[in-house]
Amino acid sequence: MTMPAHQTPATPALTVLTVPAFDDNYLWLIHDGVHAAVVDPGDATPVLAALEAHSLRLVAILLTHHHADHVGGVPALLRHWQVPVYGPASDNIPAVTNPLWENDLVQLPALGLSLQVLDVPGHTRGHIAYVAAEQSWLFSGDTLFAGGCGRLFEGTAAQMVASLDKLASLPDNTSVYCAHEYTLSNLRFALEVEPDNRALQQRMVAEQDKRAQRIPTVPSNIALEKSTNPFLRFRENSIVTRLKTTEHLSPSISNQDSPRIFAALREWKNNYR
Ligand SMILES: [Zn+2]
Repeated sequence: MTMPAHQTPATPALTVLTVPAFDDNYLWLIHDGVHAAVVDPGDATPVLAALEAHSLRLVAILLTHHHADHVGGVPALLRHWQVPVYGPASDNIPAVTNPLWENDLVQLPALGLSLQVLDVPGHTRGHIAYVAAEQSWLFSGDTLFAGGCGRLFEGTAAQMVASLDKLASLPDNTSVYCAHEYTLSNLRFALEVEPDNRALQQRMVAEQDKRAQRIPTVPSNIALEKSTNPFLRFRENSIVTRLKTTEHLSPSISNQDSPRIFAALREWKNNYR
């Protein structure tokens, strides 16, 4: 017998809960009011507290890369909840039970959630990002930040350029859930690189206002990042010229040499205040 249409169970709306940890990390709890999946639980204590406060049952752990502030809470969470641990296949994370590769689909039926996996090496060799296409969410870990990008610890500039290009090609309305509240310091640098960018000037005012009220600046979105984040905008003539006039890039480097230009910009940021 077929179920009458009015009895079809509605898919519960999913929410992303912000769980602050350490000094400036954000851990993300995706939930439907009953079940939850956590992204990058560097610390178990605030995650367990949030699960309890909202009466949520953990069904999965999702990891973007191997750094301790992203995986440190996994053993303690597993002592409370026997759940699968999804993570990059090539980042050597012992706790991972479900290793993931580019374009794999993580299906979490309890939440009615599908996440597509993107390989985004650069910060680490195996760093991955998760895209919830239906919800227009991106969990970018330490690859794309609000107004910035992660440091190149294990990968090359060419890899990071390809990784950021991949993320920038997501739909403009995609919310960017990155793992740190680095936005104001990122935007200070961005204004040094692009002092005349109106969208960037306006963003700085808006984000300063949020921080003054202790409101997270994350999530951001892809459209905002494309208009204000120098690490997605480094091919702009004005930025290449700025890198050359400030002697962060040799005048002999071609404006087409994306990895060299990106590397010069990243190096400038590494040494910026
Ligand atoms: Zn990291």
